[in-house]
Amino acid sequence: MTRLCTGGRIEVICGCMYSGKTEELIRRMRQVMIARQPCRIFTPRRDTRYSVGHVASHTGAKLEAYPVSSIHEVLAAADDVQVAAIDELHFLEDRPEEILAGCQALADRGLRVLVAGLDQSYRAEPFPGMMQLMAVAEQVDKLYAICVRCGAYATRSQRLIDGRPAPADAATLVVGGLELYEARCRACYEPAC
Ligand code: ADP
Ligand code: ZN
Repeated sequence: MTRLCTGGRIEVICGCMYSGKTEELIRRMRQVMIARQPCRIFTPRRDTRYSVGHVASHTGAKLEAYPVSSIHEVLAAADDVQVAAIDELHFLEDRPEEILAGCQALADRGLRVLVAGLDQSYRAEPFPGMMQLMAVAEQVDKLYAICVRCGAYATRSQRLIDGRPAPADAATLVVGGLELYEARCRACYEPAC
């Protein structure tokens, strides 16, 4: 017997800061909107860089979004959509296993689940939630920024305090922009100490 394909899938867009993750999420969601597919974009409340209720890229591109703190709020607000997008996934407050289970449940329901987030912390360590999702995703795209020191492809987010690398024992999640983070390549990245 032929089994109906539900179209459920997980797409992960990852990379360091300024690599264009939000731009790419917005690009894909604009296509979804042009196709008039029921959709919703979710943004963690913890990400306070822009006005609440929007996802916005560093270039100013912007779409309306639904603020959430946890993956459970996403699950509760995704009943009527075909496509669910979550920006800055690393800011969700759940344990990595819960994020994984939540995204899997959405895709198993037949949703296209688009997720964008940092793959590494400022300490250049993998973010467990993103790592686990990448393993099960149907599609993973890793984007690159440009290293502000040498112009090579950057894969790391350098956190700076007064121009010096932030200490290793600082909080893992600190919201900030160009005043706090630089895109750097492996060679130019200065480890937190
Ligand atoms: P992300 O969501 O990955 O942090 P955004 O989509 O918000 O990235 O913004 C990407 C944009 O940031 C680029 O198109 C570019 O205009 C800008 N930008 C600023 N600094 C850099 C950099 N060092 N390398 C590449 N793009 C940068
Ligand atoms: Zn460099």
